[in-house]
Amino acid sequence: MKNLIFIVLVVLLSGCATRRYAIPRNAQARIYTMETTGYCKCKKCCGWKRNWLFQPVYASGPNKGKRKKVGITAAGTKAKPGTLAADIRYFPFGTVMYIPQYGYGRVEDIGGGIKGMHIDLYFRTHEEALQWGRRNTKVKVWKAGR
Ligand SMILES: [Zn+2]
Repeated sequence: MKNLIFIVLVVLLSGCATRRYAIPRNAQARIYTMETTGYCKCKKCCGWKRNWLFQPVYASGPNKGKRKKVGITAAGTKAKPGTLAADIRYFPFGTVMYIPQYGYGRVEDIGGGIKGMHIDLYFRTHEEALQWGRRNTKVKVWKAGR
């Protein structure tokens, strides 16, 4: 009996874990065909380098040379699997997406090359990001209000 209760609990809890993100208020699900790529917090993926004080700084762009908080998204959250970089003109911060084979994610970041129907999926390691590669896939989107 105890075992059964335990199993039921595990099933219920794991059911909750499949979608960690609340759907934005009044959002209707829409399907978009998107180009998806993977990224991590490394220098290569996020365009940073270390200055002479060994501090991380932006390697290029308008913020070149300015201090960069590695692993912190443009929205100010901690990047983790499920963090998505998108073109926020189309998909504002807080937009929730379901990407087959990746799972649920939420737009919290931006990227230099991330324009239009292209999203970047956060991975814990550079290896995993490379392994994802570039995939065109149908993505379910619950757009956040502006
Ligand atoms: Zn990387």
